[in-house]
This record gives sequence, C-alpha cells and structure tokens, in this order.
Amino acid sequence: MPQCSPIPWKPVTAASAEPIDHVDVVIVGAGLSGVGAACHLRRRVPRKTFAILEARGDMGGTWDLFRYPGIRSDSDMFTLGYSFRPWTEPEAIADGPSILRYIRETAREHGIDREIRYRHRVIRAEWSTPEARWTVVAERTDRGEIVNLTCDFLFACTGYYRYDQGYVPDFAGTERFRGQIVHPQDWPVDLDYAGGRVTVIGSGATAVTLVPALAERAAHVTMLQRTPSYVVSLPGNDGVALTLRSRLPARVAYATVRWKNVLRQMVAFNVARRAPRFARSLVRKWNQNQLPEGYDVDTHFNPPYEPWDQRLCLVPDGDLFQAIASGRAEIVTDRIKTFTERGLALESGREVEAEVIVTATGFNLLLVGGMAVVVDGEKVDFSRRVAYKGLMLSGVPNLAMALGYTNASWTLKCDLVAQYVCRLLDHMDRNGYAIARPQPPDASLPTDPIIDLRSGYVMRSIDRLPKQGRSLPWRLHQNYFRDIRLLRRGPVDDAMAFSASPAPKPSQPAGGIPETVEFVPRVG
Ligand SMILES: Cc1cc2nc3c(=O)[nH]c(=O)nc-3n(C[C@H](O)[C@H](O)[C@H](O)COP(=O)(O)OP(=O)(O)OC[C@H]3O[C@@H](n4cnc5c(N)ncnc54)[C@H](O)[C@@H]3O)c2cc1C
Repeated sequence: MPQCSPIPWKPVTAASAEPIDHVDVVIVGAGLSGVGAACHLRRRVPRKTFAILEARGDMGGTWDLFRYPGIRSDSDMFTLGYSFRPWTEPEAIADGPSILRYIRETAREHGIDREIRYRHRVIRAEWSTPEARWTVVAERTDRGEIVNLTCDFLFACTGYYRYDQGYVPDFAGTERFRGQIVHPQDWPVDLDYAGGRVTVIGSGATAVTLVPALAERAAHVTMLQRTPSYVVSLPGNDGVALTLRSRLPARVAYATVRWKNVLRQMVAFNVARRAPRFARSLVRKWNQNQLPEGYDVDTHFNPPYEPWDQRLCLVPDGDLFQAIASGRAEIVTDRIKTFTERGLALESGREVEAEVIVTATGFNLLLVGGMAVVVDGEKVDFSRRVAYKGLMLSGVPNLAMALGYTNASWTLKCDLVAQYVCRLLDHMDRNGYAIARPQPPDASLPTDPIIDLRSGYVMRSIDRLPKQGRSLPWRLHQNYFRDIRLLRRGPVDDAMAFSASPAPKPSQPAGGIPETVEFVPRVG
C-alpha cells in the first residue's frame, strides 16, 4: 500500500546485495500469525523450505511491542490461541506476557524459532512471471544493509498497523502541557504515575484496558472520550474450561471450549447485527447492573452507532466498572478544545488536570507491512484489487495475506488462511503448477470495502484498502463456519488461473518469457 507506507523504496544494487538465497516460502512477520503460519507449513507440507523475515529483534509482534500497564487480550484465549496447540493457562482473558510466552513456546516446540531472521524489514517484493518467483528485498535494521531472498510463494503475516507510529489526532496546545504525553504503543518503561493524576484519551479496547490498570496506582484516572463504546464484561476465567480440563485430555478440553466460545461469539454477533435495538438494550442493562445506582449510562456507555458497527470492548470481570464504582476512575464524555499547561480544556468549559496524558487514540492501518509489491514491473495499487477469499488479491500471483477476523478472534481466521495456503501449495505441487493467480473478476462486479467496520482506523484508510465483492470467491464472510467450508474444505482452483513450471526450454534464451500453460479457471 504505497500511499501509507512509511518505508522508503531502496534500489537494489549489486554492491549492496548479498548472495541470493532461495526458499519455497517467505513468511513476513513473526507475530501470532507468522509463527502460526510456519507451524502449519511444517505440519502440513513439511517438504517446503521457508524463512520468516521479521523486522524487529524478537518474535510476538503485538504482544512484544505493547508494554503498557494491564496489556491483555480482549478476546478469549481459547479462540485467540492456535487450533493446533491448547491454551493451558488458567485465565481465559490473558495478559500480554502470557500470550508472548505462548507464541514463543509454540515456535520452540515446532522448531520455528530457528527459521526466523530477525531485524529484516521487508521493503519490497517483486514478482517475475518468467521466473515464477518473488524477489524479496529486506533491510537489515541493525546494519542498514540490503538483503535479497527469492521464493516461490510469499506469505504476508504482517498484522494491520504501523509499528513505528500510533495514531494521534492533531490536538491544539500540546506544546503548552507541562506534564508527559504518552502513546500506548510507545510506553516508557520508567513512567512513574504512582499517586498522580492520569487522563486517558480514547474509548477503544486500549483505553478500557488501561484505565483499571492505571487506577491501581494513580491517584485518579480520567477516561476522556468523544464517543462512547459498547463495553461488555466477560469472566476472566472460563468455568467450563476449568472443569473440562480436570476431566478430559488437554486437547479435547481445548477443542470443546474453543467451539463453545466460537458459538457464543457468533450468536452474540448475529443477534447484534439482526436485532440491534435488543442488543443495545441488553448491553445497557448489563452496564447499569455493574455501575453505581444513578450512574449516567446514557451519556458514557451509549454509542451513536449500532453494536458491532465497531469492535465491541470486552473487559474481564467488569474491572472497568469496578474502577469507576470505587471512584478511582471516571469517564468524561466531551470534546477536547485544547491542551493547557495543567491538562485539558474541554468544549463544555470543564478542565481536566493531569500529570500524565495517554493518547489511546488508535493505530495507523498498514497493509502487508508497508512493503512495495511489484508484479512484472508494475507496482500493485491495493485499492484497485479485489480480495480473493479474504487472503489473496486479484491478479497478484503466489501471494497470501494473513488478516484475522474483526468480529472474532484474529487467529480463528489466520489458522484457516494458513491451512488454505498449505492446501494450495500441495495442489500446485501435485499438478506441477508454479503459478496461482486469482483471475481478476469482471469489472462490473459490485464491490464493498474489505473491512466491514466503521472504526476510526478503518475509516481513515478505507480508500487505500483492497475491495471485496458480494459473492464467492470475492467475499470475506466474517463467519467462521462458512469460512471453514470455504477455506478448509472448499476448492482451491475456483477463479484461479494456474500456470505450469516456467523452466526455460533449451532453445530459449535465459530470461526470455517461457511458454506457460494456462488452465481454465473453474468459477465456483
Ligand atoms: C493492544 C492490542 C490488543 C489486541 N487484542 C486482541 C485480542 O484480544 N483478540 C484479537 O483477536 N485480536 C487482538 N488484537 C489484534 C492483534 O493484532 C492480533 O490478535 C494479532 O496479535 C495479530 O498478529 P499478527 O501476527 O497478524 O500481527 P502482529 O502482531 O502485528 O505481528 C506482525 C509482525 O510482522 C512484523 N512485520 C510487519 N511488517 C514487516 C515488514 N515489512 N518486514 C518484516 N516484518 C514485518 C512486525 O514486526 C510483527 O512482528 C489486538 C491488537 C492490539 C494492538
């Protein structure tokens, strides 16, 4: 996605490039989905060689980057965990270090840790149809060198946001503020807020996580929101999981609880989408029950949009409500006029004083980690592509992206994507195909935005994202059952053009365009 890429293009010069190394698959990113993708490859197509290129110095992605107090999942670990490795810790909603430990242990168990090349930021991937391969260009972030690698298949597991910079709106008067302004993505390890006043700007998952955690040590925490979110409490521990674990083998207990939670989440999502007024009144009732009598639920917990138009915020054991009930935290729903020397002046005329202001104002969306994707000399403009099954792009060969669900745990979808990629690779090998290119749909195909959410970070980037169609295989369902059918069991050759190996014929000059055999796609 060139328009929002923070990473400059760098020409690959013979002088800067090291000898080229070739693997079957390059995975970009060693976060939850990159490590998962590598495990799937190793389990399902063990003959394939692969390398994982990771820009940072450690694995874990999100769960290594974010260090703010209270960092935790906001979906349950039975669905955020991998399908192939049980989550065995007692908590269903887990803290960041436990999730990081789970990713690291999974990588170690599957021997994936040895395949990660750290401090390799991929800046460019260039596909050549004559050679049927990608040249992946990475910058060594420690040495500034350029490293080239070639591969047959590129698997982008890069998450969805910029790592170098969180999103902060253009607030007036920040230079006047005498305290400290902190973004959750860049939390100073030595930040001392004990006994002080902290204001958290925002109302999303990060803000509702931070507020109760900060309230444990701060004198007072204000959550300042422009627009409320739907906030729902979930038990931090899953009682059914604890019971089943004591009676069943770990894998059986895990699978059972995973399915239970998938079903629960799907029912909740569908009820919210089909009966939004009912869902809204239910959430309001739950909120009222957990807050002190007379609390102004209609101002602070009453979003102007329907449930699941934006991601719902889950809080374990109602910790946010408890912090509010105890008086250690409060929610203020207002608009910021300007930062002042001592805090914030609001449009209502109210002033909020603070020594620390946390801008939990979101992310900058970034597709495929900001790398420039070039196909046969032409830079891919993502906004002009249609997503194929939510994992490949029209006209872009041998490239898959692991993008998780927005209405359920990320990993449920990433597991399916990785399984699909393994099936596709297997299909190609068995049939002698070197290239799999989703055939661009008819130009008249009606399209919608690829992400069906109206959150700020989506809306800010919607014009730069690929589109999706309204029917298969151009539609992403956001429905686990339908996606299982589509990705784990469905055909891998619908609307896909395959080409056989482009090995040059003896008479053909090196580098010439080989004759490829196009196979008529089966439209499913
Ligand atoms: C604070 C927070 C809490 C969240 N909680 C939940 C939750 O509870 N449930 C849920 O479902 N989702 C949650 N999410 C979404 C979350 O990002 C995913 O669940 C999941 O961790 C994403 O994993 P990933 O590996 O796809 O991406 P990431 O975790 O973002 O990892 C991507 C990796 O790719 C690397 N990378 C990126 N670009 C390049 C490049 N060009 N070259 C080389 N390497 C690159 C990055 O350095 C990183 O290591 C949360 C997100 C945040 C920020």
